[in-house]
Amino acid sequence: MRCPKCDGMMFQERFKNLLEDSISFSFRGWHCIFCGAILDPVILENRTKLSMGEEKEEAVKK
Ligand SMILES: [Zn+2]
Repeated sequence: MRCPKCDGMMFQERFKNLLEDSISFSFRGWHCIFCGAILDPVILENRTKLSMGEEKEEAVKK
């Protein structure tokens, strides 16, 4: 897995997410050790959909 930002090596990590209703869940994502970019399954899924022509959500700017 290559980082889309810096083209560096990415490692798979397990992340925990805390929702508003206090239901926590963990998921596997990709973490770039060089620039710190994180790719989670939702992002990857959205990108796949976008590349297939299904545009449902706009990219969120931080
Ligand atoms: Zn990177």
